Amino acid sequence: MTVSAIEFTRLGPPKLRLHGQQCDSCGTLMPWWETKYCYSCGSREITPVPLEGKGEISNYTVVYYPPRDFLGQEPYVVGHITMDEGVLLPAPVVDVAPEEVEVGTRVKATLRRMKLGHEGDIYYGQKFVVDS
Ligand SMILES: [Zn+2]
Repeated sequence: MTVSAIEFTRLGPPKLRLHGQQCDSCGTLMPWWETKYCYSCGSREITPVPLEGKGEISNYTVVYYPPRDFLGQEPYVVGHITMDEGVLLPAPVVDVAPEEVEVGTRVKATLRRMKLGHEGDIYYGQKFVVDS
């Protein structure tokens, strides 16, 4: 989840905690943005559940030519993180040289500045750091 500093003030820190969504019928765990229905059984009864914030890199890419909002951060790593709860999330992996990242690296979630908005507002979101 990514929110601006203005939204952060309005919504408060709980909105920025890492969470997934779980189907009330079959228990399938999904990423937080799968909000409409369970993609396993089709139920619309789904509940947000907190994630512990730890997992491992299942695959990753190194971005050398970022979109405009992320200029100046390159090169940076974007990983597919398999959370310990089993759900797969895409997220930046920071504070590590790209050549030191590999499949299987243990990571943990951390709240960081994500980007600058077009009107100078600052967006925050979940990134991951190596869990040593
Ligand atoms: Zn289900």
